Amino acid sequence: MKRITVAKGDGIGPEIMDATLEILKAAGARIEIDEIEIGEKVYLSGNTSGIASESWNSILTNKVFFKAPITTPQGGGYKSLNVTTRKSLALFANVRPCKSYHPFVRTKHEDLDLVIVRENEEDLYAGIEHQQTDEVVQCLKLISRPGCEKIVRYAFEYARTNNRKKVTCFTKDNIMKQTDGMFHQVFNEIAAEYPDIENDHYIVDIGSARLADTPENFDVIVTLNLYGDVISDIAAQIAGSVGLGGSSNIGEECAMFEAIHGSAPDIAGKDIANPSGLIQASVMMMNHIGQSDVAEKIENAWLKTIEDGIHTADIYKPELSKEKVGTKAFAQAVIERLGQTPSQFKPVKYEATEGIKLVPYTRKEYAKKKLKGVDAFIDWNGIDPNELAEVLTNITTSNLKLTMITNRGIKVWPKGFKETFCTDHWRCRFMTDNGAEVGKDEIISVLSQAEGLNMDVIKTENLYEFDGKPAFSLGQGQ
Ligand code: NAD
Repeated sequence: MKRITVAKGDGIGPEIMDATLEILKAAGARIEIDEIEIGEKVYLSGNTSGIASESWNSILTNKVFFKAPITTPQGGGYKSLNVTTRKSLALFANVRPCKSYHPFVRTKHEDLDLVIVRENEEDLYAGIEHQQTDEVVQCLKLISRPGCEKIVRYAFEYARTNNRKKVTCFTKDNIMKQTDGMFHQVFNEIAAEYPDIENDHYIVDIGSARLADTPENFDVIVTLNLYGDVISDIAAQIAGSVGLGGSSNIGEECAMFEAIHGSAPDIAGKDIANPSGLIQASVMMMNHIGQSDVAEKIENAWLKTIEDGIHTADIYKPELSKEKVGTKAFAQAVIERLGQTPSQFKPVKYEATEGIKLVPYTRKEYAKKKLKGVDAFIDWNGIDPNELAEVLTNITTSNLKLTMITNRGIKVWPKGFKETFCTDHWRCRFMTDNGAEVGKDEIISVLSQAEGLNMDVIKTENLYEFDGKPAFSLGQGQ
C-alpha cells in the first residue's frame, strides 16, 4: 500500500477527482488516501498561499501529491499555488505527454505523439520583479547550470526509459546568449553522453511554428520554463483538447500529478467535465509509484472507452462519437472496460521500472573570475544621451571610465541614432580600457562620485570575465 495526498480542488475538481478515484479503486490501485484542502476556500479564508502548513506535512510525508485543478481568486495578493508547490518541493521537471486519438477525437494531426519536458523552477518564473524608474519595470530571468543539467539529463533519461528516439531543444540563444546560451550549451554537452538518442535544436519561434504545423516530426522536447508553458498548451490543443492531457511534476524526493487544464468554473457542478486529463495523470502516478499493472489496466480501458465512441461533451462529435456522456457515466464506462484492451488503438504495455534516477550534480572546477567594470543603471529624465554622458565622463577612477550608454539595451552613446526612442532608464557602462582587473573600491568610488553629481543610480551589475571570457552582453549596435 502506498499513501498518497489528494486534493479535490475547485470548480470541476471534485467531480473529476471523484470519478478518477472510483476508477483507481476499481482497477485495484494499492493506495491509501490523505485528503487535504487547497485552493479558493483556503485563499479566501485569508491564507494567501492557498495551502495550510499541516497540508504541507501530508505532502512531505507521502511524497506523492495527486491534485485536481484549483481556482486562483482574481485580484492581487494571491500567490500561484502551482508555482509555489513546484518550487517548494523542487519539482524540477514538468512532463506533459501529448497524443492525438485519431480517428475518435478530431485533430488535424493524426500522428501527433510527443512529450514536452519543461524546466519547472527557474527562468522568469523566479518572480523577481522590480519597478526601477517611473517608466520601467524589470523581471529577472535566472538560469543555473545545475537547473539546466537536471532538466536536460531528465529529458534524455526519459527518452531512453520510454523508448523515444529523439530529444529536441528549444531556446532563444540567438538573442539571450548568456541564459538561453547556457541551456543550449548544456544540452549539447549532455546529448553527447546519449549517442543512442538523436538530438537537435530549434530557435523557439520557428520551433513552435514547426510544432504547430508538423508535430509528428517531434518526439521529446526539452525547454526552459516559459517556452515550455506556452508550447505545452499549443501541443495539447492541436492534439484535440486540453481536457485530455495529464502532467507530472517530478522532483528528486516528491512528485505531483495533475490535469493540464484549470478548474473550468463555467461548467462546474454540471456533471459534464471530461475527467480524462486527471485519469491520464493518475496513470502517470501509478507508473511512478511502481504500480504499472494498474496504470496499464486503466490506460487500456480508457483507450477502449474512447474508441467505443463514449465521449464527454468537449470531444463529442456526432460523426465520430456514439454516445454523449457526463463525468460520472464516462468513469463508469472506463470501469466497465477494466481488463479489456483497445482494438483500434495500440494497447499500452507498461513495465515496472525503478523510475528515473539522475546522477547527482557535480560542480565544475571554479572558473577564474575577474572584475572588469560595472554597469550603473541611472534613472534620468532627460532626452539627449550626450548631455548625460557629459556629466558622467567626470567620473573616473584609476581604471574605470564611461565607455557606453544604452537605453533599453540599445547603444545611444557614443554615436547612437537620434531616432532611437529613449525612456528614463539608462545603463551606463564604466570599464577599464587597459585590460586591468578592477577592485570593488573603484566601483564604490564610481557610485559615490555619481551621488555627488546628483545622479540617481537605481542598481548596478558587475562586469566579470570568467576564465578570460567576457560574461556580459554588449550593447545592441555596439
Ligand atoms: P480552464 O482550463 O479552467 O478552462 C478553459 C476552457 O476549457 C473552459 O471553457 C472550460 O470549460 C474548458 N475545460 C477545461 N477543462 C475541461 C474539462 N476537463 N472538460 C471539459 N471542458 C474543460 O482555464 P481558465 O478558464 O483560464 O481558468 C479557470 C481557473 O482555473 C482559473 O482560476 C485559473 O487560475 C485556474 N487554473 C488552474 C490550474 C491548475 O490548478 N493546475 C491550471 C490552469 C488554470
